[in-house]
Amino acid sequence: MNLNSSTRELSLVGPYYAGRLERLGITTIKDLLYHVPHRYLDFSLSSPISLAQPGEMLTIKGKVVFIKNQYTRFGKKIQICEVEDASGKITVVWFNQPFLVQTLYPGTTVSLAGKIDWFGRKKALVSPEYEVVKKGKRQLHTKGLVPIYPETSGVSSKWLRGRIKEAVESIGIVDDFLPEKIRKREKLLGQKEAFVSVHFPKSFGQAEKARQRLAFDELLFLHLNSLRRKIDWQRHEPAQKLEVDSKLIKTFIDSLPFALTHSQEESVNEILTDMKKGFPMNRLLEGDVGSGKTVVAATGAFATFLNGYQTLVMAPTQILASQHFDTLHKLFDPFKIRVNLITSDIVKKDLGRADILVGTHSLIHKKAGFEKVALVIIDEQHRFGVEQRAYLVKKAKGKSISPHVLTMTATPIPRTMALTIYGDMDLSTLTEMPLGRRKITTWVVGPKKREAAYKWVEEQIKTKKNQAFVICPLIEESEKETMQGVKAATEEFARLQKVFTSSHLGLLHGRIKGEEKEKVLGAFRKGVIDILVATPVVEVGIDIPSATIMIIEAAERFGLAQLHQLRGRVGRSDKKSYCLVFSEAKSPKVLARLRAMEKGISGFELAELDLTLRGPGEMFGLKQHGFPQLKAASWQDVKAIKKTKVVAEELLKNYPSLSFLQLASF
Ligand code: ADP
Ligand code: MG
Repeated sequence: MNLNSSTRELSLVGPYYAGRLERLGITTIKDLLYHVPHRYLDFSLSSPISLAQPGEMLTIKGKVVFIKNQYTRFGKKIQICEVEDASGKITVVWFNQPFLVQTLYPGTTVSLAGKIDWFGRKKALVSPEYEVVKKGKRQLHTKGLVPIYPETSGVSSKWLRGRIKEAVESIGIVDDFLPEKIRKREKLLGQKEAFVSVHFPKSFGQAEKARQRLAFDELLFLHLNSLRRKIDWQRHEPAQKLEVDSKLIKTFIDSLPFALTHSQEESVNEILTDMKKGFPMNRLLEGDVGSGKTVVAATGAFATFLNGYQTLVMAPTQILASQHFDTLHKLFDPFKIRVNLITSDIVKKDLGRADILVGTHSLIHKKAGFEKVALVIIDEQHRFGVEQRAYLVKKAKGKSISPHVLTMTATPIPRTMALTIYGDMDLSTLTEMPLGRRKITTWVVGPKKREAAYKWVEEQIKTKKNQAFVICPLIEESEKETMQGVKAATEEFARLQKVFTSSHLGLLHGRIKGEEKEKVLGAFRKGVIDILVATPVVEVGIDIPSATIMIIEAAERFGLAQLHQLRGRVGRSDKKSYCLVFSEAKSPKVLARLRAMEKGISGFELAELDLTLRGPGEMFGLKQHGFPQLKAASWQDVKAIKKTKVVAEELLKNYPSLSFLQLASF
């Protein structure tokens, strides 16, 4: 047995259990050994029975005197047992485990661990961990620090302990992949030692040291994978080298109704430089909502056009696709650049050869029209799976060229996280907002102030012709809007119609399709609708500059970064904008978190704050962003993430003989 063996080589693991383990992401022995406990029970104290005191957590060892099943008044079975050692006797009680009578028959030597309690008037061990003591076998479940693992149904920690013990014993000497020099320098345990100590530690300190080593590996492999993707991308895919005539580019930039910000200029330069190279660009353009990513991307499309090639623009939703279409159409019309919109239910006629094709993921399924694509622009990239992206790129790839790829995201992913998982992409960041953008005044509004807030909004609408969004609570953090979400929005819409009797309300959610959707948005844009009630999913990226008030319901269900993103729908003109963060939450901790919205801090800072306050799991549907669930490491461990990145680069450079594939298959 070695690290790459299947778990099925272990005893008790057949196809059935193998399937269950797979649900925990475990298929090989290596996966199993990197399945790190999330905590330990401390059974390091053992005692003779007579000295055991109520309230103590401890381990005792003795012989079963008797055991019986007894029925309670409620028809449940409890197991009453008596165990004795040289010092005395103690009662032991379990609930609903009738099979114990067969395992722990009188005369069996048993080790028990748990809390000493009262059972009636007797001192007793209630529902302790137990194991039969066998000569020459160390106790696994009732002595020392006992690991508790992330479990799944049918796979208990107790069961895992047994398999892991067998695995550790059967793999023999492990040939540590990490060069000794690096291991010593970074003060890391050897791999095998770490396996033993993380699963069967002698002390908490030792367990932590072991976890650190395994966390190091976990992060290192993430980096190595990203780096490998980067190298592959650069090595094997010849791209079209584009000529960039800076004079012509300038005519485009000069045609814009505003001057580019400094970081927009910088990003444009980075993109154009990439496109001149002999391998395809793979760049991530990050920028807060409203930071002006679209024109940056458009400049790339312009350069592509000048070279006689096409650009594909992919948006996550139809609304966004048609918005991009409108924007690009306006920007490019003076240059006679043909822009086409392709979505599943709005297919604009005249699909002759276009210079720029805008669409949703349905672009993937389009058969024709991709003759000469040299640039693919993907907006809000996390909404596309990695495979979808790869497929699109493959499809866009002509006979000999691979397209340059520019992905854009407004999701403020903490830098450290981006470093790991998006390490294969180069990063451009828009760090500043276009001039003239004013801070959006934000208030957290509790239940007592709700009435007054509605009055204020009504007043704003009446006197200043302001317009408002109302975002309904997040029902489920998923890509797709569920029926439940639609229902919530519909109900809120009905409720608010009674609150705002003199205003016009509109409703927008994912089940409202094509033409109707366009109609609602058009009416809102024109100011016919004063208040637009919408689900969170539909909202991402909508650009309606005249809207100045954002109301978010049940805000505590959102991450700060998400709230910030929603808030970014307003403040898009020179009119003063407001965000009302509604929450019925009472917990001071939750409210304090929401109050961070009132301070004028950037999306990136809010994301970092969320990461520390709530942890990454809660942050923003990490799974949808392609962030793997870490087992040993933590996304909060910035130091380890940075360190392992450096080591990954060092390994690739100085240890080319290391079997790269083996590493990357982690
Ligand atoms: P996002 O980064 O969220 O995609 P957009 O590209 O939609 O942002 O830009 C938001 C708004 O800001 C648009 O109306 C756009 O025309 C405008 N804008 C972009 N760049 C600038 C700039 N440098 N100065 C002023 N306004 C700008
Ligand atoms: Mg955008």
